[in-house]
Amino acid sequence: MRNDWIAKVIRTMTSPLPVSDSRVGECRRCGECCKLPTKCAFLRYDEQGLASCAIHKVRPLNCRKYPRTDREHITKEGCGYGWN
Ligand code: SF4
Repeated sequence: MRNDWIAKVIRTMTSPLPVSDSRVGECRRCGECCKLPTKCAFLRYDEQGLASCAIHKVRPLNCRKYPRTDREHITKEGCGYGWN
């Protein structure tokens, strides 16, 4: 999937759907998905360079569930999630 605002709108509109059963792994807090398609204003980094969200408790579903499907996973390099 491309990295643009249309892709983000699609992720947002499909975010109520469940996360794919084939997803494995966990977030490594690299922060790359917080830059889709541009850097989020709520993205923060700690002293170790780990990403966090300034509105983590109320973050949108598309952020909460990313990557929801293999198809929408456009930050595969370095991401802690993968697919069976
Ligand atoms: S790209 Fe993957 S590892 Fe990096 S912050 Fe997003 S979900 Fe976590």
